[in-house]
Amino acid sequence: MKTLADAFHHTLQDIYYAEGAMVKALPKMIEGTQDAETKQAFSDHLEETKQQVKILQKVFASIDAPVKGEKCDAIEGLIKETEGAMKDASGKALNAMLIASAQAVEHYEIARYGTLRQWAKELGNAEAHDLLSQILDMEKAANAKLTGIAVSKAN
Ligand code: ZN
Ligand code: FE
Ligand code: FE
Ligand code: FE
Repeated sequence: MKTLADAFHHTLQDIYYAEGAMVKALPKMIEGTQDAETKQAFSDHLEETKQQVKILQKVFASIDAPVKGEKCDAIEGLIKETEGAMKDASGKALNAMLIASAQAVEHYEIARYGTLRQWAKELGNAEAHDLLSQILDMEKAANAKLTGIAVSKAN
C-alpha cells in the first residue's frame, strides 16, 4: 500500500467486510433484546445495512475493483463484545448493553465513512463521495435514533 488510492481500496474492503459481519450479527441482537423499541430500531438498521452492502458494491465498481471484503479486526472485536454482553447480562442491563454495543458499531462506521468519503473527494471520485455520503447519513441517523432510545429508557 503506497498511494491514497491504495488506502482507499484497502479501507473500502475493510468496511465491506464489516457491513457483511453486521448483516450476520444484527439478527442475533434483534433476538437478544426484549425491548420492542430497540428491536424495531435494530430491525430497521438491518434492512439499511443490506442496502449499504449494495451501495458499497457500486463504490467498488466506481474504481473498477472486484467486490471483496478484507477481515476487519475492529468489527470482529465489537461483535465479540456484544456476544459477551448477551451471555453475561439480563433484563434492563442486557438492553442497555445492546444499545451501547450498537452505538459503538455506529461510531466505528461513522469514522470509516467520514474518512472514505473525504478520500474519494481527494481522489476526484465524485460518485464514490456521493455514495459514501449516503451511507454516512444512514449511520448518523441510526446512531441518533439509538441515543434517543437510550435517553428515553434511562428516564
Ligand atoms: Zn490489509
Ligand atoms: Fe453500516
Ligand atoms: Fe476495520
Ligand atoms: Fe450501521
